[in-house]
Amino acid sequence: MQAEIAIVGAGFSGAVIARELAEAGIACAVFDQRPHVAGNCHTERCPDTGVMVHVYGPHIFHTGDAEVWALVNAYGRFRPYRHQVRATVRGAVYSMPVNLHTINQFFGRTLRPDEARAFIAARAHAGEGAAASFEDQALRMIGPELYEAFFRGYTRKQWGLEPAALPAAILRRLPLRFDYNDNYFAHPHQGIPEDGYTAIVERILDHPRIDLRLDTGFAPAQAGAFAHVFWSGPLDAWFGHDAGRLGYRTLDFERFTARGDWQGCAVMNYPDPDVPYTRITEHKHFAPWEDHAATVCYRERSRDCGPDDIPYYPIRLVDEKAMLAQYAERARALSGVSFVGRLGTYRYLDMDVTIREALDTARLFLRSRRDGTPMPAFAVAPV
Ligand code: UDP
Repeated sequence: MQAEIAIVGAGFSGAVIARELAEAGIACAVFDQRPHVAGNCHTERCPDTGVMVHVYGPHIFHTGDAEVWALVNAYGRFRPYRHQVRATVRGAVYSMPVNLHTINQFFGRTLRPDEARAFIAARAHAGEGAAASFEDQALRMIGPELYEAFFRGYTRKQWGLEPAALPAAILRRLPLRFDYNDNYFAHPHQGIPEDGYTAIVERILDHPRIDLRLDTGFAPAQAGAFAHVFWSGPLDAWFGHDAGRLGYRTLDFERFTARGDWQGCAVMNYPDPDVPYTRITEHKHFAPWEDHAATVCYRERSRDCGPDDIPYYPIRLVDEKAMLAQYAERARALSGVSFVGRLGTYRYLDMDVTIREALDTARLFLRSRRDGTPMPAFAVAPV
């Protein structure tokens, strides 16, 4: 079957769009330069230990979106999983995100919720209006002691910048709790796919009207052969980076194996500034229903992303946002191409949001085809 639509990238964005279009009777070709689907959510079993490894770092599925939850569950079995994170700080282990246990341990107290609220409020900085930066937000939320211990060092390592230069939105990902709830996420649905994310994405793409082409790049010059292109690669790559490169952080993983249980939890954060890595992930704890004699861990470090590195986190500071606005304006002037996903819209997206936006994008495309209206470059504005 001759593909009418090209979809570039076989991660969640590309796969969900391809499936929606295929179900509607439209033949799609899905291109990915990597040898596997699922993008940075890719999982594979470690040949040495048998453990399912989150190859590009830990991915925990959590959502409040019932349709997205139903969609992923239709393509694989999700096992209940509750993400709990610990942090090693100045020689002691604490619970994350900051909760009543963290506060009581850190300050050597036995505060009850209301007392802890008042205790933190007395330390927190006052502030009017929206917080100017990550640091401002943190000082207003938790005060200087907890900020210094848990956030400053980690954030400098993770982003390579002073928290005073980073947007407050990064910190808003994390809650502050005055009870003993240490669930890292607050969404009603949370789980880990029993046979990994890659198996789920493979099943989403398994449709007679989807032609999957792995190990195959796609150049914008090929767009003319298709009625429409959905591009989930980097937005600036579509333009050959001719106005500069949008900045990302990339990650380096130092893999090691051991016998038994290395750290007793899936993720241990290391906020201390003199520790060079940000966290250690022990993959077998993402599948507590499995039993493995050995274990595989990733020590994770973050650095600026070079042209040949894998982009992970969009930096989105003032300069990047100005460059983004410029590329977005040029993208809007194009026809026949839509930009989707984390790289295509240069945003820090969780998996569930990526899937929601992919569904909405595909549906918008089907509507615009039916109504004869133009499909926009962005179903969701990147700035
Ligand atoms: N963060 C921190 N200390 C921690 C955990 C997180 O300072 O122990 C900050 C850090 O800036 C990070 C942000 O909070 O980038 C968001 O954390 P999240 O766990 O959502 O990061 P992800 O798992 O997506 O890398």
